[in-house]
Amino acid sequence: MAKVLKGIGASRGIALGKVLLLKEEQLVIPNDKIKDVEGEVQKFKQGVQASLKDLENLVEITTAKLGAEKAAIFGAHEEIVQDPAIAQDVEELIKNEQKNAIQAVKQVFDKYHQLFLKMDDPYFKERASDVNDVANRLIKHLLGVNIVDLSTINEEVIIVSDDLTPSQTAQLDKKFVKGFVTNIGGRTSHAAIMARSLELPAVLGLKNITEIVTDGAMISANGTTGEVMIELDTDDIAVIKKNQVEFEKNEALLKTYVNQPTITRDQHKVLVEANIGKPADCEAVLKNGGEGIGLFRSEFLYMENDHFPTEEEQFQAYKEVIDQMHGNLVIIRTLDIGGDKRLSYYQFPSEMNPFLGYRAIRFCLDHPDIFKTQLRALLRASAFGSLGIMFPMIATIEEFNQAKALVEECKAELIAANIKFDQQVQVGMMVEIPAAAVNAKNFAKVADFFSIGTNDLIQYSMAADRMNQSVAYLYQPLNPSLLNLIKMTIDGAHTENKWVGMCGEMAGDQLAIPLLLGMGLDAFSMSATSILKTRSIINNLDYQTAQTLSNQALMLSTSKEIESLVQAFLKKNNL
Ligand code: PEP
Ligand code: MG
Repeated sequence: MAKVLKGIGASRGIALGKVLLLKEEQLVIPNDKIKDVEGEVQKFKQGVQASLKDLENLVEITTAKLGAEKAAIFGAHEEIVQDPAIAQDVEELIKNEQKNAIQAVKQVFDKYHQLFLKMDDPYFKERASDVNDVANRLIKHLLGVNIVDLSTINEEVIIVSDDLTPSQTAQLDKKFVKGFVTNIGGRTSHAAIMARSLELPAVLGLKNITEIVTDGAMISANGTTGEVMIELDTDDIAVIKKNQVEFEKNEALLKTYVNQPTITRDQHKVLVEANIGKPADCEAVLKNGGEGIGLFRSEFLYMENDHFPTEEEQFQAYKEVIDQMHGNLVIIRTLDIGGDKRLSYYQFPSEMNPFLGYRAIRFCLDHPDIFKTQLRALLRASAFGSLGIMFPMIATIEEFNQAKALVEECKAELIAANIKFDQQVQVGMMVEIPAAAVNAKNFAKVADFFSIGTNDLIQYSMAADRMNQSVAYLYQPLNPSLLNLIKMTIDGAHTENKWVGMCGEMAGDQLAIPLLLGMGLDAFSMSATSILKTRSIINNLDYQTAQTLSNQALMLSTSKEIESLVQAFLKKNNL
């Protein structure tokens, strides 16, 4: 009987294969002082050149296999390895402290690694692994250590390693590598993103899997459930193979939903849309049959830059999304910065409670110049398709009205300059603060639409920091308090004939979908890979029975009770 270990399911699918254990060779850093300063600087420069050659090669392989966007990671590595500030720091250590090149490189890269690690934003935290990846490559060249070439694997394996660097992931050949399993990493790590684009099952964050399994042992990794099975006997293997066939059959079935509308058996129509962070994400949205963009997190445009993006830069990015979505509605959220999201080129005040502080619309209303640059770019882009402008973190009607007044100001400026925009552009808001949910019927008089941001709505209604693992048990999408807030929001909007979407993670949660449908949610927005599953659930339900279910759920008093109710309902509907 197999043993089951639980990690983070980062890329769907079931892999079965022999372990290829990748244990990084411990790199021994020499500590001898040097005399030949020039020779050591030259050695460092040669290491940089050798690394650059590898990276150019990787850009080429990755562009061919996964496209230019994925290859951009190695473009970024090329920049890091030849960064002048880093080179200067390394050369100073060699010259002033007689450190050898390897020691100097280790010290400088460790400093930058720590700097990224300390950042609150998970996106930048993950970039720390890029710095490490580059440092390891450079140090291996300086030490003359062999760099493992994963592209030479020629039998079916599941890779088990501490972490999988972007360069390693890009070299994987799908013909032989059936999946991978790591000690560290989460859903937003590079390894996870790469695994999803390669459509390779991956389970990450198992903490010590490299200590538990041995090279060559048969294991199975389920990237949907996050489970890794070890010590398999023949019965286990038979069950896993059966599950693989079932999974493939299901995948093929889901694909049949790509070009279908989302509509219940009793003809109630809703939309299933996608959340994106950049224009290039639209490709996956279209491939998965997304009926629009329910949330474009525009802050990524700001976070990936080294300056506040100009009106023109923003206009181009927004237009690129609108063009790709061929007339389907694109909701772009205005800058949601602050809290855990920081900018390298702007110093936010330090706060006791950043999540309750100076962020999102609060920051934007305080910086009308920054805000209006974005609003003008959005309005200009609206001329090319169907656009909704959405304000984040609205707590009061006054905030909404002030933001809306700035939109009107920008419209007047564009009219005066004879620049076209869509007069019908919708202006709506996120409902992610309980105060907004409770006051929804009044907000619905001024906003064109709502989108419920459950990631924040849950953290604020349960008073549980969404980044804090110790209080993660309070992330309860099915808690009756939350369901009542959602119901108030939907009813408030519908009273004024406005539509309501949801763009928090809950929208793609299989247990929540029947309840949200029954409560009358009009649009579900989620990561592209969850779209087809969501549509398959909705298209196999009746709106009427979903309404009865949600009314029953709203009478219950705990998350657990509601969960059991929905589970029984899904089972009864063969879902
Ligand atoms: C939310 O809060 O649910 C949301 C979608 O916004 P974000 O996760 O970007 O805060
Ligand atoms: Mg939010």
